[in-house]
Amino acid sequence: MRMVFIGPPGAGKGTQAERLIAAHKMAHLSTGDMLRAARDAKTPLGLKANEYMSAGALVPDAIIIDLIAERLKQPDCRGGYLLDGFPRTIAQAEALDAMLAAAGTPLDVVLELAVPEDELFRRLAGRGRADDNPEVIRQRLVAYRNQTAPLLDYYWGKGLLKSVDGLGTVEEIFGRIEAALAAVW
Ligand code: ADP
Repeated sequence: MRMVFIGPPGAGKGTQAERLIAAHKMAHLSTGDMLRAARDAKTPLGLKANEYMSAGALVPDAIIIDLIAERLKQPDCRGGYLLDGFPRTIAQAEALDAMLAAAGTPLDVVLELAVPEDELFRRLAGRGRADDNPEVIRQRLVAYRNQTAPLLDYYWGKGLLKSVDGLGTVEEIFGRIEAALAAVW
C-alpha cells in the first residue's frame, strides 16, 4: 500500500501513523521527523530547514521534494509506505505524481484526518514542542489552511481521498482509519 496521510498540525497523524505501521508492513516516511533529525545533526539542509520550521512556515518545495525523492529510492519503500507530512503543497503533490508515474507505482489512497481548528489549537498549545508556541502554532495552522488544504480537492478529483473524523479516543479513530482502508488493501 502506498498511501498519503494528510491532516492539520495537531490532528494526531503521528500517533495514528505509528499504529498503522505497527499493524501493516509499510515504511513510515515523516518529513517532519526527517527535517528535525537533519536539524539536530546540524547538516546544511537541516539548518536551512530550521529557519522555516521555527517560524511555522513550510520549507521550500525544492528542498523537500529532493529529500523525499531520495527516500523513496530506499529498498524499504518497495513493500509500500505511509507518507506523513508530505505532500503539503500542490507543487509537492504534482512532483510526487510525476515521480510515481515514472516509476509505475501510483498512490493507492490518500487519507485525511479531519479535526476542527479550535480543537487543534487547544491540543497544540498543550504539547510543548519547540515550534508549539502560540504565534508559531497560528502560522502552522494558516500554512495548512492556505497551502495544504487545497490538496484535499486535488486528491478528491483523482478519486483517491478518504476522510476520517479525528475526534474521539486514539482507539476509536484507529478503528475508523482501518475501516476506511479496508477496501483498499
Ligand atoms: P506538524 O506536527 O505541524 O504536522 P511536522 O512534524 O509534519 O508538523 O512538520 C514540522 C515542520 O516541518 C513544518 O511546520 C514545516 O516547517 C516542515 N515540513 C515538514 N514537512 C514539510 C513539507 N512536506 N513541506 C514543507 N515543509 C515541511
